[in-house]
Amino acid sequence: MNLLTKAVRGTQDILPRDSYKIRYVEKTVMEIAENFGFKEIRTPVFEHTELFARSVGDTTDVVQKEMYTFEDKGGRSITLRPEGTAGVARAVLENGLLGDAAPLRASYITSCYRYEKPQAGRLREFHQFGVEMFGTASPAADAEVICLAKSIIDTLGLENISLQINSIGCPKCRARYLEALREYFGQYKDRLCETCLGRLERNPMRILDCKSEVCSEIAKGAPAMTDFLCDECWEHFKKVQAFLDAAGVYYTVNTSIVRGLDYYTKTVFEFVSDDIGSQGTVCGGGRYDGLIEELGGPATCGLGFGMGLERILLVMENQGCDFPQPDSPMIYLAPMTESAALECFSAVKTLRDEGFYAQTDVCGRGLKAQMKYANKIGAQYVAVVGEEELASGKIKLKDMESGAEKEINMADILDALYDISYDRTIGHLTEVAEKFGDPDKFPFA
Ligand code: ATP
Ligand code: MG
Repeated sequence: MNLLTKAVRGTQDILPRDSYKIRYVEKTVMEIAENFGFKEIRTPVFEHTELFARSVGDTTDVVQKEMYTFEDKGGRSITLRPEGTAGVARAVLENGLLGDAAPLRASYITSCYRYEKPQAGRLREFHQFGVEMFGTASPAADAEVICLAKSIIDTLGLENISLQINSIGCPKCRARYLEALREYFGQYKDRLCETCLGRLERNPMRILDCKSEVCSEIAKGAPAMTDFLCDECWEHFKKVQAFLDAAGVYYTVNTSIVRGLDYYTKTVFEFVSDDIGSQGTVCGGGRYDGLIEELGGPATCGLGFGMGLERILLVMENQGCDFPQPDSPMIYLAPMTESAALECFSAVKTLRDEGFYAQTDVCGRGLKAQMKYANKIGAQYVAVVGEEELASGKIKLKDMESGAEKEINMADILDALYDISYDRTIGHLTEVAEKFGDPDKFPFA
């Protein structure tokens, strides 16, 4: 294997020809989050290993098997973030953000790193869009972050995504549940997979999440957390459902949803697609009221979710969702001589300064090759500039779609592009007016 031309297993490149898709997704999620009051936070890609061990939890798969941990040259144990919440919680504490208006709302798009078995929808470097909310115990907040995720999924046009919710209670009521689980799964010690045998003592709730056929079959008969919830947790769970009902958000209660990370309390939820195979969870989240305290801060409620952007893209591609096409250059200026090249170079600079997407030759190519290139990049207008055009000061602006040509003064090229843009805008507004209202009311019709 040539290490110089082979990316590390479980990583992927986003190429210039495809990047418009992820950019569209990223722009959409951030815009919707802003409408919900979330402002962006950026935290480092690596943190002290201790932070993840503490927050994600020592007994979780993520901490036990999946972290990219190394010693830096100063002898510190450093870990590439496996998820977004821990770093945000650390930043919130370190920068005293809990003193700001509550609830604190923060959103992010980050790369995450987990040493997992790569397959479709499961990578070693992947990207999450996430939100965190701190400082509210209200079930309305749980419903609000779920509504945000739902709004994103709907706006992007994903279909057949089910929302599944559960409550995993608080440390008080969960203790009784864990005992019941140990007792139940204890009867099947001879059949559980090796990983689940290990989980039996440490973290029996994780057995409910095991993907192996035998374990998931056994798990079907396991007691449900919802039968063990204390009054407060039960009340909370019911109210979250009432808020979701009020917002018309459809969900099902799935008592096997437990989430992979230790810090969750009460509400947990997942948005799941059946269209991308077994890695179908496109978004997972919930409440983590103990996290800030676990990190040494004051008792503070928290909640949020992480959305796997690669999985969102997979679903969108499989379902043929629309991605707005990237802009193509408005104009390509094709010089035929060296002096024309200088003239075109200067004109393109002027056009770009005014915000137009313009290109000219930077390869020293002949006219035929330039026209081929202009076609390839989808230039909307092309003008050829040779000695004759330089002498007369006139160029022909060719509309590449219709083939129509219009002669203009080279000095007026900026005005010509403004005219085209103006006509297009008016055309677009008229279309909107005709679609949504009485066109006579619109002065530009
Ligand atoms: P899974 O059950 O699929 O392993 P998880 O419970 O480990 O997911 P979280 O830690 O909650 O996942 O991460 C939130 C979201 O990030 C997931 O719902 C998924 O969309 C995405 N995700 C998690 N791990 C990966 C990965 N290795 N590759 C791509 N996306 C991932
Ligand atoms: Mg996982």
